[in-house]
Amino acid sequence: MANIPDPARRRRRRAKLNGMGSSGAAPGPLAGGPAAQGRQAGGTPRAALAELLAGNRRFVSGQPVHGHDVTAAAAAASGDQQPYAVVLGCIDSRVPLEAIFDQTFGAICVIRTGGHVLDRAVCGSIEYVVGQLGVPLVMVLGHERCGAVGAAVDALRSGERPGGSLAHLVDEIAPAVTEAGLDDPAVHPLAIRRHVRRTVRTLRDDDLLAGPVATGRVAVVGGLYDLATGEVALLDLA
Ligand SMILES: [Zn+2]
Repeated sequence: MANIPDPARRRRRRAKLNGMGSSGAAPGPLAGGPAAQGRQAGGTPRAALAELLAGNRRFVSGQPVHGHDVTAAAAAASGDQQPYAVVLGCIDSRVPLEAIFDQTFGAICVIRTGGHVLDRAVCGSIEYVVGQLGVPLVMVLGHERCGAVGAAVDALRSGERPGGSLAHLVDEIAPAVTEAGLDDPAVHPLAIRRHVRRTVRTLRDDDLLAGPVATGRVAVVGGLYDLATGEVALLDLA
């Protein structure tokens, strides 16, 4: 318990970091507007980067505050990688995939997008892991209270499609919401499950994955993470 950070110290450090913004250093490409706000990191890209790098220094020093003392594991995994699974999950900050599966370096490949939505880069990455690294398992992991699925529900209910590339996420999740039934009071949790199943089926039909899936060399499975208990439950895909 002695390693729990002192909140007051953290606030002082934040104030110091925020002060860096007016110290004459040129703002880098991470200097950003409102979209870059982050509660945990102090609200600015600069502070977020400082937090991130501080975390890396804690890791390298072998004195992590979050219990991930894996320095030796990182060194051990620094040669060729031989991961045994690839997990596709959501970007949700409450669902850190290596942590929730208690995996060390080199064990699993991780891909995260909002609502684990697929695109060509995601599919190509999975094809690489399966085809080139010989990984036998692909897991699609959804989670309760997924904001991306919630955004799709909201968009369909309001009839207002978001702009930008967020529209792509909503468009890709929308069929699961429609399947679940927009009028169903449980549409959000139901759509989360249907969206996992749809994603699994799409991957099973992928050009380069269908063959290995058909022969049984590769399995594509779906799971659901419970935010409250930390448990991952496999979904019935039949
Ligand atoms: Zn999510």
